[in-house]
Amino acid sequence: LAKEKGKNNYQFYTPDLDKLSMRKMELEKGLRKALAQNEFVLHYQPQVEVETGIIVGIEALIRWEHPKLGMIPPGEFIPLAEETGLIVQMGKWVLRTASEQNKKWQDEGIPPVPVAVNVSVRQIQDDGLIHDVKQILEQTGLEPRYLELEITESIMQNIERSTVILNQLKDLGVLLSLDDFGKGYSSLSYLKHLPIDIIKIDKSFIDDILELYSPGSIAKAIIDMGQNMNFTVIAEGIEKEEQVKFLLENSCKIGQGYYFSKPVPADKISDILQRRFQEMFIH
Ligand code: C2E
Ligand code: MG
Ligand code: MG
Ligand code: MG
Repeated sequence: LAKEKGKNNYQFYTPDLDKLSMRKMELEKGLRKALAQNEFVLHYQPQVEVETGIIVGIEALIRWEHPKLGMIPPGEFIPLAEETGLIVQMGKWVLRTASEQNKKWQDEGIPPVPVAVNVSVRQIQDDGLIHDVKQILEQTGLEPRYLELEITESIMQNIERSTVILNQLKDLGVLLSLDDFGKGYSSLSYLKHLPIDIIKIDKSFIDDILELYSPGSIAKAIIDMGQNMNFTVIAEGIEKEEQVKFLLENSCKIGQGYYFSKPVPADKISDILQRRFQEMFIH
């Protein structure tokens, strides 16, 4: 009987769980080499002024082309990179690559727009960030107003330090935006004291525009607040015409989402930027 019980214990390790943890181990191992082996690429997604269709910015989003496993989405490897601390090096690569690319486009005569880069809270906590950003701006020659750093409300975990760092970044002249706004539930009072230029309404509140019960009520409140506090407000995750109409009716000037364009490789976004306008299909 005991033997039987012992055997049964094996059932705890279901094949699925094994596969999952093996994938995680493989990714973790691969992550260390990925930078050196040039396996990361940036895709770019336009941010569009809804009234005119003019592209007013782009967001850089990292992609990992794993040699064996294929394309890995950032939702899967960014948390791993944060756990292992590799995010600091990876984040520096993203900052440099996006800045270099943006400067290159400007030199080619493409209408200049800021490039937004996601910055993890681990990078904010790292002592090297200010130096790195400064150096990257100097070395690439990109004007600071064409670099935007997207941070999340998780920086509130250490509000004193974050305030110091954000003020130093602001002093460099870069733009600062608060990504996924409204998703964290930190106190609103901090907003008044941080040098934030832009808030990006979290996709969940944009999805809610399509709901039947009091649709878009939170998005409306955020847009109002943003206007009162002189933030630029960007709505992320725009997929449907109905949502574009909502933005127009509620004076939210900028949208980003699959409705306009998915994130696309650099050569494709440069064509879009060259045209300066994003086609829209509002009837
Ligand atoms: P995020 O910064 O909030 O970026 C928006 C995410 O929503 C992107 O997913 C984008 O592809 C996706 N998205 C855009 N429009 C739509 C839409 O209309 N519908 C839907 N369903 N999704 C849309 P992605 O590229 O998979 O990135 C996920 C997250 O990973 C990002 O969320 C960001 O938090 C993180 N991330 C991406 N690149 C980097 C990076 O270079 N560094 C860091 N630290 N994090 C990054
Ligand atoms: Mg973002
Ligand atoms: Mg985010
Ligand atoms: Mg977001």
